[in-house]
Amino acid sequence: MRTRLDCLVTSALRQGSAVPAFTCYDFTTALAVVGAAEESGRGVILLVAPKTAATPNGLRLISALRGLADAASVPVSVQLDHASDTRVMSDAVAAGADAVLADGSSLPYEDNIALVCAARELLGPDVVLEAELGGLAGDEDRAFSAGQPADEAGVSVAGLTDSAQVEDFVARTGAQLLAVAVGNVHGRYKGEPQLRWDVLQDIAVRTHIPLVLHGASGIPAEELVKAASMNVGKVNFNTELRTGVLTTLQEQLPAHRADGENLQALLGHWNASAADFAAGTLATLSR
Ligand SMILES: [Zn+2]
Repeated sequence: MRTRLDCLVTSALRQGSAVPAFTCYDFTTALAVVGAAEESGRGVILLVAPKTAATPNGLRLISALRGLADAASVPVSVQLDHASDTRVMSDAVAAGADAVLADGSSLPYEDNIALVCAARELLGPDVVLEAELGGLAGDEDRAFSAGQPADEAGVSVAGLTDSAQVEDFVARTGAQLLAVAVGNVHGRYKGEPQLRWDVLQDIAVRTHIPLVLHGASGIPAEELVKAASMNVGKVNFNTELRTGVLTTLQEQLPAHRADGENLQALLGHWNASAADFAAGTLATLSR
């Protein structure tokens, strides 16, 4: 059913849990995520990557996700992730996205604020806006870069959110959710992830809006369960979901080629892999 992303997140936080958000590059994954959410009776967020939203077919995917979200038996929000191009934002919202991460975190501070304000001006009051303060290292769409061997690949932590800027940033942008950099990265972690709970705590006391943790793939469950107590109401997953699907497809492909080029059965494995991951995550974040 249709929901406002901020309402979904605040009501989860009131119950001591966080809402997982999953990047969907395709409809099969989205079906699996929504199916897992319905099974668990909990709301969920479908994320669309900006590179997806920048293409005509990507906009059609957003429209399809809108239909899927509205027909679900649990609250589902469709959010454009990490957008810095206002044209992509307005196209995605016109196609059916109800929330946008207006991401100016790689820009100078004042330019970051200006981007979020421009997004609000353009998109109007009904679109829920997340903003990001403190740059996250890594590439949202790739676990590691093409030159790195997979077994030693990973992303090192870049900057941390400056908690002294939080009050001013939230007040001036009017953002409804705030993505933070507290030792999290996009993609695969180089070494063990070390979340800076001290920095998170410092941010959490300075604002009442829900915080968002990106790059949660690879962060152990026993760490993630603490998130909601620090006002982290939304946790983004991408790498682990993709890795699981790709590993499954790699394992299953030869048998399904041999079985009369059976794409339908192969898609069943794709669905099961994504649904298992989403179900496990939903359970962890509401523990
Ligand atoms: Zn992200």
